[in-house]
Amino acid sequence: MDTKAKQSHIFLFPYMAPGHMIPTIAMAKLFASRGIKTTLISTPQNIAFFFKTIERSKDSGFEIGVLLLKFPSVEVGLPEGCECGHMVETLEELQKFLKATSLLDQQLEKLLEEHQPNCLVADNCFPWTTDLAAKFGIPRLVFHGINFISLCISWHLINMDFSALLKSDSEPLVIPDLPDEIKLAGTQIPNFLKQETELRKFLESTAETERRSYGVIVNSFYELEPAYADHYRKFLGIKAWHIGPTFLYNKDTYVSLDEHECLKWLNSKTPNSVVYVSFGSVIKFDDAQLLEIALGLEASGQQFIWVVKKEKSDEENKEDWLPEGFEKRVEGRGLVIRGWAPQVPILEHQAVGGFATHCGWNSVIEAVSAGVPMATWPAFSDQFYNEKLVTQILGIGIGVGVQKWERFGGEKVGKRNIEKVVTQIMVGEKAKEMTSRAKRLEEMGFEEGGSSYKDLNDLIQELGLYSTAPN
Ligand code: UDP
Repeated sequence: MDTKAKQSHIFLFPYMAPGHMIPTIAMAKLFASRGIKTTLISTPQNIAFFFKTIERSKDSGFEIGVLLLKFPSVEVGLPEGCECGHMVETLEELQKFLKATSLLDQQLEKLLEEHQPNCLVADNCFPWTTDLAAKFGIPRLVFHGINFISLCISWHLINMDFSALLKSDSEPLVIPDLPDEIKLAGTQIPNFLKQETELRKFLESTAETERRSYGVIVNSFYELEPAYADHYRKFLGIKAWHIGPTFLYNKDTYVSLDEHECLKWLNSKTPNSVVYVSFGSVIKFDDAQLLEIALGLEASGQQFIWVVKKEKSDEENKEDWLPEGFEKRVEGRGLVIRGWAPQVPILEHQAVGGFATHCGWNSVIEAVSAGVPMATWPAFSDQFYNEKLVTQILGIGIGVGVQKWERFGGEKVGKRNIEKVVTQIMVGEKAKEMTSRAKRLEEMGFEEGGSSYKDLNDLIQELGLYSTAPN
């Protein structure tokens, strides 16, 4: 051991979207809690959005440094200031956004040169960072922010010639070699994967650089998906450490939200009597779909909190997505939150007994940790794979039946279906069974001495990271 070693320093470089920033900030805290210096690399707007979370970590004694990069949106043809993933509206814009991220290489190189960190934890979306880290002789670890089952399915999809196996889009495709029979409809696989497209090439390069990187950090815990953790490491041979659920390290962030109006509202409700409805930070349903959700929730008779990514209109009756008189009719029974909701405290509130979700991995692991069953409504990305974990493997959810991969939740789900599935996760024998299974999983989460705790220790040890300078 080098006794002259000083405190180690890690750079964390997340993709610029809440679903990636949130677990990365938590991970930064996790490393900081072990006495390792951590620095978050991002752009001004992304840091501004999470400024309070980062500041609050200082109050809990965990110093997270920040270094800023200028995002070249205009250079790639995006509007000025478009530097957050959730601002991107089409696949064409997504391609430009990814191009812009690759143009950050020189700025990152300068920072690496200046600060000489011991390790670079960079998002899966930045394949070029593997070679950049190698240039400085430091390990690059990949962070996807997703789980083992999604990593396994994605790996097989990108590496198999499924176009030969997929006779038609309506036929299900069985993903080979997995621990369970996982079937995906052809339509649940994005079209850009089925041909030699720019996005497919990009994914191939992320897979290739992942293989050449030092290893992968996974935001999950072993007990949740042991067969897939083993498959990923042993069958696919990829080095990985699971350290999740990372959000548990952001818990102090939510303390000041205790006074949020919706939490007070929940205090007045009986246990497991409210369904929480929210679709993450990226999906924006159109007005017609929002209207169906409103009608479905109303018809279900269930109490609910529904988060809609829209601001309240100034003019009366301007909200075409709400049925006339909706909020009056459901007063006391349902609450509509416009904008950003304190999701973790809501899910953990004892009054919440179900969650209608798009199956973003952060949302799913937050629900699992709160012991809440789910109505699953995936749209894109890893969401269909997470749905399989929730409904087929863990048995803690029921799908609304979405069959089509659409980046912004394009497949319409009718009000009757919404009413049916929301009711099924809240009422009856099946709901009770799912809730008790979910509660059992809740008890398995992160704890000192648990598998994620141990994996983090192993990772720190293997990387030879020092917490403080020896005297
Ligand atoms: N989130 C929140 N309030 C909101 C919407 C989202 O706190 O109103 C948080 C949620 O708790 C989760 C993250 O944002 O941690 C969303 O990540 P996820 O992977 O579920 O979905 P994405 O936004 O990436 O599609």
